[in-house]
Amino acid sequence: MGTWQEVFAAKIADMHLTEPWKLQEDDSLQVHVLKPGWKEFVQRRALGRFQCSQCFHEWSSAKVHVLFHMRQHRGRGKVRMRAFRQACRRCPDPRLEEPEFSQETMERLLHNLVLKILEYFYHLPIQPSDLLEVVVDVPVLGPHDSARCEGCQLGVCRESRPAPVLDAWEPLIDAKKARTHRTMKHQRVRPRATPTHHPSPFDSNFPWKCCCCVGSSLLCVLAVLLFVLLYFTKK
Ligand SMILES: [Zn+2]
Ligand SMILES: [Zn+2]
Repeated sequence: MGTWQEVFAAKIADMHLTEPWKLQEDDSLQVHVLKPGWKEFVQRRALGRFQCSQCFHEWSSAKVHVLFHMRQHRGRGKVRMRAFRQACRRCPDPRLEEPEFSQETMERLLHNLVLKILEYFYHLPIQPSDLLEVVVDVPVLGPHDSARCEGCQLGVCRESRPAPVLDAWEPLIDAKKARTHRTMKHQRVRPRATPTHHPSPFDSNFPWKCCCCVGSSLLCVLAVLLFVLLYFTKK
């Protein structure tokens, strides 16, 4: 983490922040689990490289997420950081491997982090367009392997949402709630179809069509019988 801290310190100095800020790695960080006074920034979809520690297979992913929690207290700043890991797809029992970032990606990540610090703790107006893209133009082939992605397992990854650099956590939660809600509704609808339920004429399950068919057939038969009866009695 040496270089991370060095680059972070340089960025802090570039932005003319005189208060000391520290960056630490913390693999216990959880998305949305914040003590009072802490702020969250999630850098989504950074380009990272991985290497399996068992078979040495290497792969790249453009969906590496980095979570930052930060706080300023008594003139000092603290940042905790967690980069979500991925597992090798070639090994049957793989370990979760830490991502590696290029110097450029790291610089961009930390640039965005410092902008967020300025916004949250020093009340500088930061526009979403001020944040730098962290996916550098390198083609990454193949689909995202959700089963082997720590971010997916912890609900950080989203396939459909094109949210490049924003810390767009609120919409994500809403989407999650909406999904749960839908499933719950589904479950509540189900018992209607159980056999203990007797069909009533007001129930949409009542077979109106069938009744109409049988009724009109009976009417036809009756009409034919009446016709035959009248025909023979007249004779
Ligand atoms: Zn492997
Ligand atoms: Zn994922």
